[in-house]
Amino acid sequence: MLEQKQVIVIGGGAAGFFAALSLKKHHPNCNVIILEKSAKVLAKVKISGGGRCNVTHACFENNELSKFYPRGEKFLKKAFTQFNTESTIEWFKERNVPLEALHDQCIFPKSNSSQTIIDCFEKEAKELGVIVKIQANVKQISKLDSGKFEINTLEETYFADKVIVTIGGQPKRNGLEFLEKMGHKIIEPLPSLFTFNMPQNPICELMGNVVEKTSVKIEATKLVANGPLLVTHWGMSGPVILKLSAWGARILAEKNYHFHILVNWLNESKEEELRGQIQSLIYNQGEKKIVNLNPFPMTNRLWCFLLDKIEINKDIRWKELGKKNLNRLVNLLINDRYEISGKTTFKEEFVTAGGVSLEDIDFTTMQSKKVSGLFFAGEVLDIDGITGGFNFQAAWTTGWIAGKHCML
Ligand SMILES: Cc1cc2nc3c(=O)[nH]c(=O)nc-3n(C[C@H](O)[C@H](O)[C@H](O)COP(=O)(O)OP(=O)(O)OC[C@H]3O[C@@H](n4cnc5c(N)ncnc54)[C@H](O)[C@@H]3O)c2cc1C
Repeated sequence: MLEQKQVIVIGGGAAGFFAALSLKKHHPNCNVIILEKSAKVLAKVKISGGGRCNVTHACFENNELSKFYPRGEKFLKKAFTQFNTESTIEWFKERNVPLEALHDQCIFPKSNSSQTIIDCFEKEAKELGVIVKIQANVKQISKLDSGKFEINTLEETYFADKVIVTIGGQPKRNGLEFLEKMGHKIIEPLPSLFTFNMPQNPICELMGNVVEKTSVKIEATKLVANGPLLVTHWGMSGPVILKLSAWGARILAEKNYHFHILVNWLNESKEEELRGQIQSLIYNQGEKKIVNLNPFPMTNRLWCFLLDKIEINKDIRWKELGKKNLNRLVNLLINDRYEISGKTTFKEEFVTAGGVSLEDIDFTTMQSKKVSGLFFAGEVLDIDGITGGFNFQAAWTTGWIAGKHCML
């Protein structure tokens, strides 16, 4: 009789469960054990998307999809050919978990509850005979001369033919040391997806103000992003800021989160075009007071704040603006400069940039190029996306591939 092969999945999160389920589907005869260090599996899935779980994103073109990943773009572009957003939707549909896309293309379970995703994973894991051990904190993996692996938790020792590592993003490098010891290059872990602090800046009094279309640059870098900007009581947030925090995760850490941003409140409006727009307004409606005629897509509170910032008397008429003030107004609207000092985690939602270097991973199988028989999936890899369901999509894709290929 053939010996039953044993696979250990280290980490009972999104990628770990998806890998275990893929493995059992593709290779039903192997024995699969998930080792989870905490007392609960799928803890991040539970709290994800404000308890609703933004499962994936309605972007069905792999090239386009990969562009949402500040780290891992090229790697994922190839990986998505095996399992992409369409595959995710299909996977859940086959398990009677309907999903729906919202106006911003973020995809959630129709139930609007992350528990639906957890129930689906746990039910299938049970049906397929996946064994889950909690409070099993893996400290070391060794490859034995026999070709098998020895896995040591604080209390127990396990043996496996193959291992899939899905321990998620590690905030500190020492969480990855046991993988480094096995020969893997580690890219320094850093936070991504945070909002910008502007202590004591008077704009914070305008908390809650949203400008739907802005463009924000980080001064003295090439970093620029577009999207809605939200003023908060501690600084600035909203999609445009989160995108910058993700794309700039490493540069901003090097600056110790002290830098300047330049806000174009009018998206990509250019100087000449804006000047022409204001001059035509002066010509047509010059009798109106500046305070009463806000021609831009922003609240009157923000409009008045900006006028005060450059000391333009709000009670003058548009025709009294004068050349000097026109220049200052144009410059402020497209190049409004703010000092940033520090960062704040976005709704406790963060991901880790960095992790196991993709140089050491074969994208077709997720197998380590350093240790054969060892596979990786999820945020432990140097992969992270912006908000919108991209981080889970990366976990599903890499988990599915690792599960499929690990016994081939
Ligand atoms: C509050 C919040 C909300 C989020 N919302 C979304 C969202 O809506 N959509 C989206 O796409 N992304 C979201 N994310 C990001 C997403 O949750 C992660 O990218 C995703 O969970 C990564 O999956 P993973 O399996 O790689 O890691 P994790 O989900 O972190 O799972 C790793 C597991 O491994 C365990 N583990 C770690 N070390 C060991 C060890 N040594 N031994 C044994 N077990 C170990 C951990 O306890 C954990 O259970 C959110 C993140 C947060 C923090």
